[in-house]
Amino acid sequence: MDDLREKLFYEQKNGYDLIDTAERVRCEDYCAEYIRFLNNSRTEREAVKNAIAEAEAQGFVEYVPGMALKAGDKVYQNNRGKALTLAVIGKKSLAEGAVIAGAHVDAPRLDLKQVTMYETDEMCYFRTHYYGGIKKYQWVTIPLELHGVAALRDGSTVEITLGREKDEPKFVITDLLPHLAADQMKKTMAEGITGEGLNILIGSAPYADDGKDRVKLAVMSLLNDLYGITEEDFLSAELEAVPAFDVCEIGIDRSMIGGYGHDDRVCAYAELKAIFDVENPERTCVCILADKEEIGSEGVSGMQSAAFDTFMEDLCEAQGVALRRCFEKSFCISADVTNAYDPLFPEVSEKRSDSKINYGMGICKFTGARGKSGSSDASAEVVGHLRRLFAQEGVVWQMAELGKVDQGGGGTIAKFMAKRNIDTIDAGVPVLSMHAPFELVAKFDCYMTYKGVLAAYAEK
Ligand code: MN
Ligand code: MN
Repeated sequence: MDDLREKLFYEQKNGYDLIDTAERVRCEDYCAEYIRFLNNSRTEREAVKNAIAEAEAQGFVEYVPGMALKAGDKVYQNNRGKALTLAVIGKKSLAEGAVIAGAHVDAPRLDLKQVTMYETDEMCYFRTHYYGGIKKYQWVTIPLELHGVAALRDGSTVEITLGREKDEPKFVITDLLPHLAADQMKKTMAEGITGEGLNILIGSAPYADDGKDRVKLAVMSLLNDLYGITEEDFLSAELEAVPAFDVCEIGIDRSMIGGYGHDDRVCAYAELKAIFDVENPERTCVCILADKEEIGSEGVSGMQSAAFDTFMEDLCEAQGVALRRCFEKSFCISADVTNAYDPLFPEVSEKRSDSKINYGMGICKFTGARGKSGSSDASAEVVGHLRRLFAQEGVVWQMAELGKVDQGGGGTIAKFMAKRNIDTIDAGVPVLSMHAPFELVAKFDCYMTYKGVLAAYAEK
């Protein structure tokens, strides 16, 4: 009967029971590099910049329209410094389709408003407008740092990074002391801290002179010394306040990684390493690091933008292939994180279908809400294709559904890839505390996601 059970039943195993010591060492090495990357990639711009630096070290060159390309060539397209597409040209024609993996490098955060700075009661603040889905109460009383750019009237751009280095000052949003929070504590968690209340404290020492707004004047003059900017320059700036925590190992056994922005830089990094490691692929491999996923993949740097199609069309034209012919034969892993089952909140999950940490790469056949609304819902054949590739390469994986039916929902770039007539499936790393300032992933799953993407790129 046991044999029969083993033969006929689907049973999941903890990933640690499935790998040997050598594989575990590779997993640790991989995660050490990921921790370094994530620590230095706090925004989409920084992720793109760091990815380009690593890609160039691996022999990738910036694609120039009209460039002659042969099998094995490695090129990238930098979309305005905020999104990136890399390709390794395959032995087969693009008429056979490409193998695409698409992740996003934007993450929930607090953007500074354009008219951002104000002083009240001799304290100076930045006003913010949050980006992406956040639980606002999580963003107060944590250290924040500032990253971004200001575009000046003379056409130049200044990069602004404050708070990342150990000796640099950080910023914070204050919260009410419990002693005076009787009224606040009666509010719902959605109302206790409001969007307009997310104002970042940036200074308190007044300028040594008379007159109004002396603290603001002192802060502005420090900013002017550091970056040469004036208050008006904030109007054409993109400044993001992000958590100032370092990425670190979590657990006495060091089996997990805590940090800001795992969603979705953990999959972006997996793709990146995979496209670096794929050798002489049969079909052209494409790696996308998209922007704007957290706000619906809109905008010129989001996955709905024609920037991706333009790059792919250029590659196709060079081979005399119509883009639509390439797309209809292509395969895409929408590499995005998925919800990990949390034993502290079992009520929102359906244990059999939710992904679990340490059980490997999570495959989401569908996302969406209610009756799968807003999902591209991959076909059985597409899931079967991945099953075959993963079995060949020893990729540990699991099915992943985003919580109980009717509990909530979400989406990824998958539907925008499917809209292009590309067979697409969501797959990625299970995350605990997703969209929190400090998210949690398991090392094992990070490594298996890298192996999963590599298996797709290196398809046999
Ligand atoms: Mn995501
Ligand atoms: Mn997200």
